[in-house]
Amino acid sequence: MAFKELVFSGVQPTGNLHLGNYLGAIVKFVALQRRYQCIYCVVDLHAITVWQDPAELRRNIREVTAAFIACGIDPGKQIVFNQSQVAEHAELAWVFNCVARLGWLNRMTQFKEKAGKDRENASIGLYDYPVLMAADILVYRATHVPVGEDQKQHLELSRDIAQKFNNDFAASIAECGFGEAFFPLPEPLIQGPATRVMSLRDGTKKMSKSDPSDYSRINLADDAEAIAQKVRKAKTDPEPLPSEEKGLEGRPEADNLVGIYAALADSGKSAVLAQFGGGQFSTFKTALVDLAVATLGPIGAEMKRLVADTAYIDSVLADGAARAQAIAAETMKPVKDIVGLIRR
Ligand code: ATP
Ligand code: MG
Repeated sequence: MAFKELVFSGVQPTGNLHLGNYLGAIVKFVALQRRYQCIYCVVDLHAITVWQDPAELRRNIREVTAAFIACGIDPGKQIVFNQSQVAEHAELAWVFNCVARLGWLNRMTQFKEKAGKDRENASIGLYDYPVLMAADILVYRATHVPVGEDQKQHLELSRDIAQKFNNDFAASIAECGFGEAFFPLPEPLIQGPATRVMSLRDGTKKMSKSDPSDYSRINLADDAEAIAQKVRKAKTDPEPLPSEEKGLEGRPEADNLVGIYAALADSGKSAVLAQFGGGQFSTFKTALVDLAVATLGPIGAEMKRLVADTAYIDSVLADGAARAQAIAAETMKPVKDIVGLIRR
């Protein structure tokens, strides 16, 4: 059966939205609007898998929503909402909890990284995160999921869950009139020069909201001065920039900065190196600051303006949630029939 093409993705309201979120995810969200119907979700139920201060969580939900809009997502044409307003995400996650296997979750590297050494003390939600993520996507029977490289493993798990549901309930799915498969196998969209933006302090670590050093990341809300300082202090090595891409091998910091420039300029690493290869880092860094400020400056200003208008942001979320729920509810009815649950 052919599934209707639909894009779904989410961003957690965990504070400090950064250049990695922007280049790895949000830029793609914006571009995909031209070709697809898109659903973009502020995944607040994922955020609470680690402790969140309630007032800060509310602020962060609104900030991610403002960032989506400031970056160019049209909440009138697409669907923008926060996850907890559509209870079907959690409902489908329970069904998927009974489909997914413990062995599958035990392989997830994000849980291992986030739980750290004290695994016994991690929340069950943190462990179950990828199952809820599968439900987020599949409750809309979405076919395409733009994410950064770090979410690749979770996307594979989503496909495994969809596949196992389709297999386990094959007879029932056919009986209910859905042919051979009820859920699509969602495809990850992970492309371009910045699918994994690294920390500015350590080229082997992902740029992340939760890094204790603010110098490790460029935040979408940073002003020009902060961006300039962070890029100037960014770790590099003593060699000049290479003229060709293979010269970046074994030089994670140089590779990262070149990748960031390429993504911001909407070009490729080889084009950037053709321009800056052989030169000093200081020249390249000055150009990178200019480019980053030109791109992020207007976004930060617009975010600031939008978050101040709480009533507007909340109305966007309420409207998006109503439209999302209309789709999600239509998925849950046949899911219940297929599984054998009685409904009204
Ligand atoms: P947290 O540390 O709370 O998990 P995060 O920075 O990983 O925060 P998420 O909300 O988990 O942000 O992810 C939102 C999107 O941004 C996802 O598609 C994820 O793959 C992408 N993303 C996150 N970090 C990076 C990065 N460093 N480079 C590229 N994409 C990234
Ligand atoms: Mg993350």
